[in-house]
Amino acid sequence: MSAESIQQIYDIILDVPDFPKPGIVFKDITPLLMNPTLFHKSVDLAIAPFLESGVQKILGIESRGFLFGVPASQRLDAGLVLARKPGKLPRETIKVEYALEYGTDTIEIHSDGISGGEKVLIVDDVLATGGTAEAAVCAVRESGGEVVGCSFLMEIQFLQGRGKLDGVETHAVLSY
Ligand code: AMP
Repeated sequence: MSAESIQQIYDIILDVPDFPKPGIVFKDITPLLMNPTLFHKSVDLAIAPFLESGVQKILGIESRGFLFGVPASQRLDAGLVLARKPGKLPRETIKVEYALEYGTDTIEIHSDGISGGEKVLIVDDVLATGGTAEAAVCAVRESGGEVVGCSFLMEIQFLQGRGKLDGVETHAVLSY
């Protein structure tokens, strides 16, 4: 894939300062979603390092991780498992709590979503502090699955989220 395509993906993502609260620069991917050619390319770039990893399940993180999880699962011919906010999944779940700047949050996956030994790729739009992805890694491991990697559309480097994913192959299409 050409450097030009990557630059086009950079250019289409909008920075929205002070959203949802002062001091946060929100990365708005909705213009990318409206451009089918670039959206398609961005998914190809996100999964490229994992084409030969034998991925059996994609774990998509609510909510924008679902947008990348669906096409990634179809292209890798893998099942899709949802990591959701608390109380959204209807059956028995595995819950993992993680720290936020103030307080904690929780993600849940269905207990039967991932079988022992299954190879799992975790997918989300943004790697920021890494707390969410780290919780997703814990949820996969608690299920008995093997994390083959984490893939993001973008990484906000100064927040050092990669540090929380030590030992996990971590890939981001864009880096800020
Ligand atoms: P973190 O747990 O800090 O790595 O945050 C990752 C989650 O928060 C991802 O699911 C993102 O969708 C969301 N997120 C964090 N920072 C941003 C940002 N600057 N713009 C858009 N989404 C963000």
